[in-house]
Amino acid sequence: MIDYTFTRSARVRHMRITVYPTGSVKVTAPRLIPEFIIRRFVASKADWISKKVEQFKSRPPTPDHPQWGTGTRREYMKFKDAAYELATGKVAYFSEKYAVKYGAITIRNQKSRWGSCTKEGNLSFSYRMIFLPPELQDYLVVHEVCHIKELNHSKTFWDLVKQEVSNYAVLRKRLRGI
Ligand SMILES: [Zn+2]
Repeated sequence: MIDYTFTRSARVRHMRITVYPTGSVKVTAPRLIPEFIIRRFVASKADWISKKVEQFKSRPPTPDHPQWGTGTRREYMKFKDAAYELATGKVAYFSEKYAVKYGAITIRNQKSRWGSCTKEGNLSFSYRMIFLPPELQDYLVVHEVCHIKELNHSKTFWDLVKQEVSNYAVLRKRLRGI
């Protein structure tokens, strides 16, 4: 059984399967295609989907990998929605933990930085976060969410980060090396 989400679109003529680096599978189908046809279609592509998921799993999570994180507009367009979904979910989760209010969340095509926070609490993340392993994604989001409270890298700030990510120092180094 393949786990997937599907959306219908009046603009597509054929069913389309997208496998994201996170391992999630999305099917886009024309409006009038019945669900059992979609299920059958996904089942017929099960081998291909599993192979893709495995490929993503085995790839090192580095943007320097020739397959991803190249910062091309095409790649950005392909992954920004998935990155937005990911960031939004994690920001919602951690902002509740820290009891902070956040503003807008933006996904950018930034090569130089992974994330940023404005004094209004608007957060932005590089779409490349989608290629990071979950612990680095969490660290990144926690880092920016904590900036809503402390817009600096003071000891108070790191103490906040530590509440949710105890090994933040190691992760910070790893993220810098990518
Ligand atoms: Zn920072």
